[in-house]
Amino acid sequence: MSNETVPKVDADIVYEEEHPVLYEAKDGIAYLTLNRVKYHNSQNSQMLYALDDAFYQATGDDDVKVIVLRANGKHFSAGHDIGTPGRDFHQGRDDRRSMNYNHDNKPGAEKAYVREQEVYLEFCRRWRAVPKPTIAQVHKGCIAGGLMLAWVCDLIVASDDAFFQDPVVQMGFPGVEYFAHPYELNVRQAKEFLLLGERWSAERVLAAGMINKVVPREELESAVQNWAEKLAAQPRLAMALTKQACNQAEDMMGKRNTMDAVYGYHHFAHANNSLVKGDYIAGFDGKSMAQSNKQKSSNKQKEG
Ligand code: ZN
Repeated sequence: MSNETVPKVDADIVYEEEHPVLYEAKDGIAYLTLNRVKYHNSQNSQMLYALDDAFYQATGDDDVKVIVLRANGKHFSAGHDIGTPGRDFHQGRDDRRSMNYNHDNKPGAEKAYVREQEVYLEFCRRWRAVPKPTIAQVHKGCIAGGLMLAWVCDLIVASDDAFFQDPVVQMGFPGVEYFAHPYELNVRQAKEFLLLGERWSAERVLAAGMINKVVPREELESAVQNWAEKLAAQPRLAMALTKQACNQAEDMMGKRNTMDAVYGYHHFAHANNSLVKGDYIAGFDGKSMAQSNKQKSSNKQKEG
């Protein structure tokens, strides 16, 4: 068995932010703020581990009753980091959070399978299970991996300039790793959302039941604050039990099992990309994805 491990990739990583997630707690409310402004909060491991730390801190603080997840910068989140100088997917971690080994010296399809299990699938499940109510405060772009961060929250409030999109079919994938689409939308809507890969407006995802509320951009912060204050006045354990009950109901409807199954399809697609395109994400990078997404959006506007 000579190929069980391979040399680690020693590529340069340039982090533009020392603190890619900001943490503040006040009057019973913890604010977790994505802060990779320069790269539209695209998610590298540095940011995802920082976010996990922030959720852990808010969970452990008895003074915190409710958690708000929001973002600095132009967009809520452009998705997973596929091309910034801080892209660090090839790096292992000594502070892994799930019972798994490091991916960075593993060959072939094992590398992405192991890494994405930790930082995408299991992280999102951890955050969904936080025993305190969470509110996502979404403005502008919430794309692909960005959806995962909004979806793990209990309530989603969006500004009227927000848009939602999972455009990864063009990269060969059946959606992002946290495959919640047929639960966040109904199945037929999920098929349209995925197969066409178009941007959906805040109003459209509200009508589809994917989010709770749309407000004018200038009222976004105060609308979230208003709900957070109301939640902070509710009894802690009752909220934890209510949240657990709803999540349990979703899992009884198959959410967790669906996700486990589709995680396998997703990684078959990664492996197929490597075989056919020579690259596990089919040669796409941040720029080419953004260009292609903008193109889709302008085509759609022309079609009316
Ligand atoms: Zn993936």
